[in-house]
Amino acid sequence: MTKLSDLGPPIEGRRHGGETSKEDDHFYACPACGQTVDKRDLRQVIWHERPGHKQLEMDA
Ligand SMILES: [Zn+2]
Repeated sequence: MTKLSDLGPPIEGRRHGGETSKEDDHFYACPACGQTVDKRDLRQVIWHERPGHKQLEMDA
């Protein structure tokens, strides 16, 4: 299983349309693998855009 840390240091993303105060707004469930993705970390977002990916091991 690929570890989150294998993808390098965190790549911080910014929301379009300003910040949100709701923590839930930062997460979505990946439609391909079902894992919860933190949209603030573009490593995770990019990983879950890849066809045929597996779930990431969240070690970081
Ligand atoms: Zn996924």
